[in-house]
Amino acid sequence: MKEKKLIIHNKFVKKYKSGYPLIEKETILNSDDLIKEGTVVRLVEENNKFIAKGYYGIQNKGYGWVITQNEKETIDYSFFNKKLFNAINCREKFYKDKNTTAFRIFNGEGDGIGGFTIDYFDGYYLINWYSKGIYHFKDYVIEALKNLSDGIGIYEKKRFDNQGKFIEEDSFVWGKEAEMPIIVKENGVNFAIYLNEGAMVGVFLDQRDVRKKILDKYAKGKEVLNTFSYTGAFSIFAAVGGASKTTSVDLANRSLSKTIEHFSLNGIDYETQDIIVEDVFHYFKYAGKKELKFDLVILDPPSFAKSKKFKFSAAKDYKELLKSTIKITEDQGVIVASTNCASFDMKKFKGFIDQAFEELGKGYKILEEYRLPEDFRTIKEFREGNYLKVVFVQCTDNISTARR
Ligand code: SAH
Repeated sequence: MKEKKLIIHNKFVKKYKSGYPLIEKETILNSDDLIKEGTVVRLVEENNKFIAKGYYGIQNKGYGWVITQNEKETIDYSFFNKKLFNAINCREKFYKDKNTTAFRIFNGEGDGIGGFTIDYFDGYYLINWYSKGIYHFKDYVIEALKNLSDGIGIYEKKRFDNQGKFIEEDSFVWGKEAEMPIIVKENGVNFAIYLNEGAMVGVFLDQRDVRKKILDKYAKGKEVLNTFSYTGAFSIFAAVGGASKTTSVDLANRSLSKTIEHFSLNGIDYETQDIIVEDVFHYFKYAGKKELKFDLVILDPPSFAKSKKFKFSAAKDYKELLKSTIKITEDQGVIVASTNCASFDMKKFKGFIDQAFEELGKGYKILEEYRLPEDFRTIKEFREGNYLKVVFVQCTDNISTARR
């Protein structure tokens, strides 16, 4: 394949040389030369010295990804095969674990090639493509996946812009079609996965370790509130962990049937739990009026959300959301504060937590911290790739002894 030369502004050469994988438009002097996504690009210094190779693909995050610093390496089937082979080997422990049958086997740049991910669901694979550029290499990826794994079937989702219009297309690409839902296990708990219903398949695998911790250590005998509950995954783990009751709140109508399905799949009578289809912001007001208090509150909002009355952006509004949460949490109760927003880091997130308690004149103690789990591999050169931030915070009454 013909390579296109990309001249990198002197100022940014060091950054790419030290392993930064995302190709950013403002670092390229001749970005107008880029025409066809999927083109292999050769990053060079202004004096023509080789820096790295990658591919051109427009994604919300940038203009493509660096995929090798080796000038002699060609970007062909064997290149993709090698990366997938390594990625699958790294997940050996997951493949062997009978209690967890859903996990990520390829995490974009964390596994050496940015722009796509592959998840495993009990024999079936799902590839998410994030640019037209990477989609150009789809045959290599699918061929390698077929050869390296003993998967039953492969599905894909195209999650990129097409002629200015965002498309989210699901399709079955190879093998035997699955009967939906696919029932997977996560640490012994059952989840229903639908690979044919859009981007969200039923569970966010990146919260696996957080769910397990809640089940093992924080749920027993507790009144649990799960906000932005989606299909109720956190509620199910809390209930299995012995919660006295769970309350799940989500705005989407589908959350009711999906949460019922999840409770039922795990032998829990959903009628003993509360599942509420409502705007969380509205629910907070209601709970405040009724003076409801919870021992454990899970707060995992999307980075951006819009409802009829409220607009939410994690970067701007997380602090206020926390304040509403603190008000309905028992003394000594625990808040699981989580965000998948990549635009701020853990330090800033902890700053929001600190300010929220400070403004209410309350004390707190940090009990646990989580980032992405092991199968969501990340590289230190691309810290924003480790987007998940979860902090377990205990509400204490005494500011002076608790503040750290
Ligand atoms: N915490 C969940 C995932 C949350 S996904 C889990 O780990 O399983 C985000 C969810 O927020 C979606 O289900 C969406 O319907 C819901 N949501 C968005 N805005 C909301 C609002 N204002 N009130 C309640 N739910 C909302």
